[in-house]
Amino acid sequence: MGSGGEVLGALTDGPALRICHLYPDLLNLYGDRGNIMVLTQRARWRGMTVAVTGVGLGEPLDPAGADLFFIGGGEDRQQRIAADDLCRHKRGPLQDAVADGAVVLAVCGGYQLVGRYYRPAEGEDLPGVGLLDLWTEHPGPAARRLIGNLVIEVEGMDAPLIGFENHGGRTRLGPGARPLGRVLTGFGNNGEDGWEGATDRRVYGTYLHGPLLPKNPAFADRLIAEAVSRRHPGFALAPLPDANAARAREVMLARLGTPAGKSARAGVE
Ligand code: GLN
Repeated sequence: MGSGGEVLGALTDGPALRICHLYPDLLNLYGDRGNIMVLTQRARWRGMTVAVTGVGLGEPLDPAGADLFFIGGGEDRQQRIAADDLCRHKRGPLQDAVADGAVVLAVCGGYQLVGRYYRPAEGEDLPGVGLLDLWTEHPGPAARRLIGNLVIEVEGMDAPLIGFENHGGRTRLGPGARPLGRVLTGFGNNGEDGWEGATDRRVYGTYLHGPLLPKNPAFADRLIAEAVSRRHPGFALAPLPDANAARAREVMLARLGTPAGKSARAGVE
């Protein structure tokens, strides 16, 4: 698989976490690379071996070479370059990887490109790779951007996801994708229907930047566990002491006036 391979952490007999970072130099808005650092460090703290491979323009993608594929955000110009390359070189391998149980995390511009298509403010539609049943349309250069802190409640998770969004595109889901979560604070997919992100199989798309995973260690662990369980079914992670992250999350939720924890639903319905 392409250039930039790096093996981190002491070699152990335990399971390895193999991450493929798509377009690390092209799609990296708002520190999206921080997501890779968090995945790496949290796996290393458990004594796991971590391999991170960067795959760029024109490079082939090996669907069996990683268990977690990450694609970050970018503005329309970067997205157009990436969309062309994704469809030319990566669509089939990514679809194969997902069918085989790999995890995909796609943020903002990357999220838009794993859907059916993205219609930018200007110019022709960008084709997506069809990992998630959704489409995104930008209402035009004069349209209001959806910017600010974003907090969502995710099914099956005790605590909400916290992040930051900044997008012009409005995303709508088809019947083949479920929303990742319900918006508690912010705009989410389109600022209208109250949903944020999308998921299907082990593919996750979201507008949560910030980057996402430093603020949401439980979600990072969920992705690590799902990725590793592709080759080690039933794999579970030992918990880590996340007191500082928990305190930071409390401060952020209090600042935004967002109720924390499972009871959040009661506050929005
Ligand atoms: N270009 C896209 C939009 O504005 C994505 C922006 C981003 O990744 N932050 O909708």
